[in-house]
Amino acid sequence: MAAPSGPGKSGESLREKAARKSGLARVRALKQIERARTRLIVCFWTLPVYMAGVWLLLEERREIDVFMLVYIAIWSGFALDMARRACPGCGRQFFVRNILMNLMTRKCVHCGIPLREAPEAIE
Ligand SMILES: [Zn+2]
Repeated sequence: MAAPSGPGKSGESLREKAARKSGLARVRALKQIERARTRLIVCFWTLPVYMAGVWLLLEERREIDVFMLVYIAIWSGFALDMARRACPGCGRQFFVRNILMNLMTRKCVHCGIPLREAPEAIE
């Protein structure tokens, strides 16, 4: 697919090239942010499995400490990974405004940049 108009490929200024590149980097960064969010949501859905596991272990009178610690470690890992994601638009934490993390949002809590940009913005 060729660009619709313009003075030709050599006419593309360095600034335009940089803008196109940073646009791609931004889309990539947003994809990673979305993946981090999905991981944590999947983690949420494993909660019933975890509770069933604890229940079974207790039923058999076995130790649940290790099981709990591993589960909590996985949780905190994903949550920290998600919390430290920086918005490619404003550079601040995408999901964290105060202390609380906004898991349900699909936009940056600071500048409102959406996780999925309009299709025409992606090459
Ligand atoms: Zn932002």
